[in-house]
Amino acid sequence: MTEKVTEKRIGIPALVGIPFDGQSSYLRGAGDAPPKIREAMRCDASNEWTELGVDLGAADTFDDAGDLAFSEEDAFEVIESGIGKLLAEGRRPVSLGGDHSITYPIVKAFARKYPDLTIFHFDAHPDLYDEFEGNRLSHACPFARIMESELAKRLVQVGIRAMNGHQREQAKRFGVEVVEMRGLPACEKLKAAGPIYISFDIDALDPAFAPGVSHREPGGMSVREAIAHVHAIEGEIVGADVVEYNPARDLDGVTATVAAKIVKEILGEMITK
Ligand code: MN
Ligand code: MN
Repeated sequence: MTEKVTEKRIGIPALVGIPFDGQSSYLRGAGDAPPKIREAMRCDASNEWTELGVDLGAADTFDDAGDLAFSEEDAFEVIESGIGKLLAEGRRPVSLGGDHSITYPIVKAFARKYPDLTIFHFDAHPDLYDEFEGNRLSHACPFARIMESELAKRLVQVGIRAMNGHQREQAKRFGVEVVEMRGLPACEKLKAAGPIYISFDIDALDPAFAPGVSHREPGGMSVREAIAHVHAIEGEIVGADVVEYNPARDLDGVTATVAAKIVKEILGEMITK
C-alpha cells in the first residue's frame, strides 16, 4: 500500500505556500498571497480545466503540501529544507509566494537534485542587483545570488522593462539571456534540453491586468501573452514558483484570479509535458 502511494506521488506537482514577505524593499503584503491564490483556484466562477485540456479536478493530477511555517529569522533555511524534502519525495514543488527573495533558497534545493537547471524567469524586473539598499538577500537580488553560486546552467528572463546600468552589467557578467518586454513575443526562446524551473513574478503582467503587486511597472504583458509564453515552453518542467502577488494592493481580487489562472496553466504544462 505504501509503495503504491509513493509510486503515485512520483512526479506529481505539489503546491506549497510560502507566506514570506520579509525581504520586500518597498511594501509588505505578498506574504498574505498563498490562501488567496488557493481560494481563487477553487472558486466556482470557473471550472478546473486548463486551456489545453487538463482536468485539474481529476484524481492524482497535483496535490497540496500546505504552507511552510517559519520565523522571519529562519525562513530561508526552512524554505530550502522544505523544498528539498518535497523533491526527495519525488514531487515537483510549485511554490506560491511570497516575495521574490524566496526563489534563491528554493533554487538552492533544486540545484542539488538538478545541477543542469534552466530557469525561465517572467518579470518586469531582472532582480539581478548585487545588493539593494545594503541587502544581498532582497527580493531585488535573487538571480544575482543564483547565478554567482552557479545554481543554474541557463537563466532566460522574459518581460523585462525596468533594466538599469548595474543590472545590465550583471546580466552580461552572468550570461543571462534577457528578452526585454519590447522584444516580445519570444516563444521560440522557451525551449530547453534539460530540466526547467519556472519563476513567475506577477508584475511581469501589465498592472492593468494585475494591479495587486508591490511594484507596478506599466507596459507589461497581457494575461493572454503570458499564457501563450507558458504554453510555448518545451521541455521537462521540474518545478515553479508564482510570486509577488500582493493582496493589499489588489482591486476586488482581480489579481488573485489572474495568479490562479497562471498557476493552473503552469500545472497543466507540468502534467502534459
Ligand atoms: Mn521579481
Ligand atoms: Mn518584479
